Amino acid sequence: MAGSCATHCLPVITLRALNMPDSHYIGRFAPTPSGYLHFGSLLAALASYLDARARKGRWLVRMEDLDSPRNLPGADEHILRTLRAYGLHWDGEVVRQSQRLARYQQIIDRWLDQGLAYYCDCSRREIIAQDGIYPGTCRQRQLSAAPDHAIRVRVEDTEITFVDRLQGPLSRNLSSDCGDFIIRRRDGIIAYQLAVVIDDIDQGVTDIVRGADLLDSTPRQLRLYQLLQQPAPRYLHVPLIMRQDGEKLSKRLGSAPLEAAQAAATLYQALCILTPTAPASLRSATIDQQLQWAIAHWQPTRLPAARQIMDPAQG
Ligand code: GLU
Repeated sequence: MAGSCATHCLPVITLRALNMPDSHYIGRFAPTPSGYLHFGSLLAALASYLDARARKGRWLVRMEDLDSPRNLPGADEHILRTLRAYGLHWDGEVVRQSQRLARYQQIIDRWLDQGLAYYCDCSRREIIAQDGIYPGTCRQRQLSAAPDHAIRVRVEDTEITFVDRLQGPLSRNLSSDCGDFIIRRRDGIIAYQLAVVIDDIDQGVTDIVRGADLLDSTPRQLRLYQLLQQPAPRYLHVPLIMRQDGEKLSKRLGSAPLEAAQAAATLYQALCILTPTAPASLRSATIDQQLQWAIAHWQPTRLPAARQIMDPAQG
């Protein structure tokens, strides 16, 4: 069966070389429009932009707008407008996940047919009682489609290992870490883990640069690359900036939306974090001059290999 070969024959870790410049490089920024673009998400956007442009690669923007109840009206436009104001111009059209539902469902149907995915009616309470690790209760139950059934994908009792360009090697056994995980929620919404992988494959993304809050999602995403028999991308997870009170600068915590009018000053602050050798003279430079300097001096592996760092502006 294709699925068992996918599981057993394919290496998890891509062997893409880290040559520079890499004209085949394709990177992306994939915001969720549940809030406006704030300083924390600017850092993620800027890191992926600089990495792509330093390799003379393409840089895409994808709107991860699947969780429609959480979408904030106007956030999508605010994010795109702000990226433009900060000089972060993307290549090609913006892809919206909400337009790609049939594609996700096609993969789910294939996995259901192959027995790699199955319906599940377990409640959240039952899973919390198992410390959040799904024990495979519905694996053999052959439940059929029903409006309130989630769909889970099977994981294996083996280590999934990858090397993050900044955070180093990471290894997880999904079986003991989370168990078979959800790819379509019981409310019918396609899960982030599935959509992100299908989109990155379909868009030819070679390099994922994003916040370290997504490091723990990566082994699940690598499992899906295995099942889809596709080479995994390179990963670079940049540390999240924390305020002194220990809170992440996040849209969920209501950090201020970025103002286009202060773009040059705010961009300089962001560059001071991502390219710490930024000279003070850059403060009064134009956005384009700042970005050109940062592309030429981008050395992401010199960033702290940590999931979080304190906001230097507060330090
Ligand atoms: N949409 C996710 C977010 O805004 C990011 C997805 C990704 O970069 O893989 O947190």
